Amino acid sequence: MVSGVRSGVAGAGGWARGLCAAGRLGALVLAGRRANGSGAYYDLLTGPGRRFWGESLHFGYFPDGSGTLAAAHDAHTDLVADLARAEGGRVVLDVGCGIAAPAARIARRHGCRVVGVNLSAEQVRQARGLVAARGLTDRVSIERADARRLPFADRSFDAIVCLEAAADICANHAARKRLITELGRVLKPGGHVGFTDFALRASPPAAAVRALRPFLCSSDPQALVCDWPALFAAAGFDVVWQRDILAATQPTWPRVAEAFDRHAATAGSAFWRRLAAHTATRLRRIPPILERYATYPALSAQKPKGPP
Ligand code: SAH
Repeated sequence: MVSGVRSGVAGAGGWARGLCAAGRLGALVLAGRRANGSGAYYDLLTGPGRRFWGESLHFGYFPDGSGTLAAAHDAHTDLVADLARAEGGRVVLDVGCGIAAPAARIARRHGCRVVGVNLSAEQVRQARGLVAARGLTDRVSIERADARRLPFADRSFDAIVCLEAAADICANHAARKRLITELGRVLKPGGHVGFTDFALRASPPAAAVRALRPFLCSSDPQALVCDWPALFAAAGFDVVWQRDILAATQPTWPRVAEAFDRHAATAGSAFWRRLAAHTATRLRRIPPILERYATYPALSAQKPKGPP
């Protein structure tokens, strides 16, 4: 999942420009995302969003409900890496890799080699910069590619990480099946996919959709209604662990709202102060809606070992 918030905020007015751009271009961008994945959307909004949301473009994971957003971003990456069994020496694919903050952390923390894939040219550029700045070019490489048509041979990877990217990659049921088939194709037998993503259990009523729309990756909430564990099982994976971690992601929203509060207190003009305060108010309305209609599956799906 992504949002105008996650993608559109920074500095004196950068965040507001991102929000305004997202608002103005919403219909066009979202239509484009449905057709092409979300490459163009991220090309447009990543720059300012990075300074506001941070370098990990996912919800925080707050297992005990406390801590900073930055620590919760890392905890979320660690959870997915553990679910993928990303261990020393393994070659790990990170599909929808953002700007490679998770890939860099996994390579360093787990001693793996990581290949990140992203459709957004701008994010690929920033990801390569981040990898170089962290001195990890020998262990992390970034490819511009579509996760639904991966440019890798069968059985290329020991493990796969799919960290809050699947809903961005897949606009409908056919695309979800296509993605999971691709992951199964490039994963070695016995390897694991570590997966998390936001989804809806049911389509919310109109008022809730209006509240969520600026923050969702799809203009059509129905497109976010899906059961990822069931889809992995139907594709022949063994879902060896699964849990709904929605409650542990919910502190993300007040943390982001607090960042808007800070902008509201410090922005240079009354217009930006009002916009930041308005956005913070809207963000604080989100958790109860998600509690009612959303799910956030975390799972570890193993590709069967097959005959020796
Ligand atoms: N996993 C990253 C980014 C999550 S945001 C992180 O946690 O930081 C979703 C990511 O999926 C974005 O980087 C977006 O550009 C990428 N993406 C969207 N559609 C894609 C596609 N079809 N193929 C590859 N990447 C895609």
